[in-house]
Amino acid sequence: MDLERLEALLGDIGAPPFRASQVWRWMARGASSYAEMTNLPAALRARLDAELPLSTLAVEAEATARDGTEKALFATADGKPVEAVLMRYRDGRRSLCLSSQSGCPLTCTFCATGRMRFGRNLTASEILDQALHFRRIEPVDHAVFMGMGEPMLNLDAVLAACERLPDVGISHRRTAISTVGWLPGIERLIEHGPPVRLALSLHAADDALRSELMPVNERYPLTDVLAACREWSAARRQPVFVEYLMLDGVNDRYQQAVALADALEPHAAFKVNLIPYNPTESGLRGSTRAAIQAFRDALEERGVRATVRLTRGREIEAACGQLAARTGPPAAAGSVATAGPTSALASG
Ligand code: SF4
Repeated sequence: MDLERLEALLGDIGAPPFRASQVWRWMARGASSYAEMTNLPAALRARLDAELPLSTLAVEAEATARDGTEKALFATADGKPVEAVLMRYRDGRRSLCLSSQSGCPLTCTFCATGRMRFGRNLTASEILDQALHFRRIEPVDHAVFMGMGEPMLNLDAVLAACERLPDVGISHRRTAISTVGWLPGIERLIEHGPPVRLALSLHAADDALRSELMPVNERYPLTDVLAACREWSAARRQPVFVEYLMLDGVNDRYQQAVALADALEPHAAFKVNLIPYNPTESGLRGSTRAAIQAFRDALEERGVRATVRLTRGREIEAACGQLAARTGPPAAAGSVATAGPTSALASG
C-alpha cells in the first residue's frame, strides 16, 4: 500500500488522520481487502477501494519449491521487476527475503541480479508490500534484506520499512540488513537506526580476489569495511553475520580459511555463514560438500563460529544470488516444483 498516498487521500477526503493507522493495522495483520476493515465507515472503505490499490506491486508470477520456499515476481506501478522469497522452516520459522532495489547497480560476478539492468530504488511502501504479500498468506516472523539490490544504497527506504516490520510480526532482532560492504551505510547504522542485525557479504578475505568477485571492494577495501563492522558489533553488542559463498577452486582452500579466520579478529565480533553456491549463468561452480565441511572445520579450529546455510528454493531460482526477475523453471504461477531441497537467500 502506498502509505503516502493513503495519508494524502484521507486528507483530501477530510477523514481524521487516525484512519491511516487503522488501515495500516489491518494491512499488517494480513487483510486482503478494504471490506475486512470493519472499524472504518462503509463509505470510506468504498472510497479507498475505488481510489487506492491495496498494494503498490502487482503479482506477475509465483513459484513454490518442494521444500516450501515460495518466490513471487512483482511489477511496480512503473513496470519495474521485483522479487521476494518466503522460506518456510521445519521449526516453524517463516523468513522473508526482501528486495530493496529493482535490479542492482553493483556488479558482483556471482550474482544474477547484478547482471540485470538496474531499475531504481524501491520506496518504503514497495518494500513493505513484498512482506505484506506473504503476510496475507500466513504469519511471518523473520526478514533479511538479501533480495535484489544493495540495501545501503537505499537506506532511508529500508529503515523506514524496518520501522514498520514489527507491526507485521517481524521484530528488529529478527530483521537483518545485508551489505556488500557499503561503508557509509554501515557507518550510519553504527550511530542510528533500529536495532536490526547486520550481515556482511564477504566471500574472500584478500582484497585482490574480493575485488575480482565484487568490484565494490575497490571503492571500500576490506580493512576499512571490517573495521566498521567491528565498530558496529561493539556498539550494538551483536556479532556481524559474515556471508561467505563457497566457490569451487576460487575461495574454498585451506589457506583461505586460515586467512579468513585471521581477518575476523576478534572472533566474538563475527559469526560466519558458509553458503553453498547456487548455479547462475556466472560460470562459477559451487564447492563440494566435503570442501565446505573442511573449510568450516578450519575456521572452528581457530575459534571462529561458523555454520553452513541450508540450501532452499534452488529449483525455482529463489536461492542466493539467483534473483533475476524470472520465476525460473520449472515452476510458475503457483505451481509446485518437484526438485529437491536447496539454498536460502538472494543477493549480497
Ligand atoms: S550480490 Fe547484492 S550487491 Fe552484488 S550485484 Fe547482487 S544484488 Fe547487487
